[in-house]
Amino acid sequence: MADVPAECTIKVMCRFRPLNSSEVARGDKYIPKFQGEDHVVVGSKPFQFDRVFQPNTTQEQVYNACAQKIVKDVLEGYNGTIFAYGQTSSGKTHTMEGNLHDTDGMGIIPRIVQDIFNYIYSMDENLEFHIKVSYFEIYLDKIRDLLDVSKTNLSVHEDKNRVPYVKVSKCTYKTGAEGAVLDEAKNINKSLSSLGNVISALAEGSGYIPYRDSKMTRILQDSLGGNCRTTIVICASPSAYNESETKSTLMFGQRAK
Ligand code: ADP
Repeated sequence: MADVPAECTIKVMCRFRPLNSSEVARGDKYIPKFQGEDHVVVGSKPFQFDRVFQPNTTQEQVYNACAQKIVKDVLEGYNGTIFAYGQTSSGKTHTMEGNLHDTDGMGIIPRIVQDIFNYIYSMDENLEFHIKVSYFEIYLDKIRDLLDVSKTNLSVHEDKNRVPYVKVSKCTYKTGAEGAVLDEAKNINKSLSSLGNVISALAEGSGYIPYRDSKMTRILQDSLGGNCRTTIVICASPSAYNESETKSTLMFGQRAK
């Protein structure tokens, strides 16, 4: 592993999806006005990002701009994080996962896996590589193992270097129907506002980063701070119907810049 300095870079990209069939059928107005490669105007408000992707941008172009360099840096010893942020149906799954069975349609995650294995195959065959994967959902500030859904409400621990990790436990996850919807909204907002606070503190170079405010930011502590390469992909709808949600999503991305 190369000796890497402790420094963190955060890039914020913004991707607009095309109007979908129900938006077209409803006659929704198409609102983004794209200016150059890094500006977009929504409802007369200008926003600037590291890159702005218009709806016709391919999955390959998004991967090359958002993730390819991070994979290279991770293989050199950096921590890498790529996450998508946006309202429901704005294109997060399309961006991160895409169509797993179609070379052109594949999103960021399968392309990362492909690049990592291509790198390994290109190396000396006597070298041994260890790859670990975990896949979990944080919902209502509870962690569920998506590779073994019987494992619910996992807890966050710290290793001897104080790096947080998720420990598999057998602690049973119960949900009460009463007030569940309200709890859901409160918890989602809490996770997202904690994430926004951490990212803007990092972007401002603040001495205090409030990682401990939510499980999501605790788990992402090592990925977002220290020696890291982070890309945030802000996903947005181009329809006037979603204008206020789109603006607040773009504002979230702007806070990280
Ligand atoms: P989210 O995960 O944010 O809820 P999805 O990724 O499921 O949203 O996207 C909603 C729908 O829009 C899906 O049918 C998806 O295929 C389509 N879609 C999203 N982004 C794009 C895009 N850039 N190009 C074409 N279709 C897209």
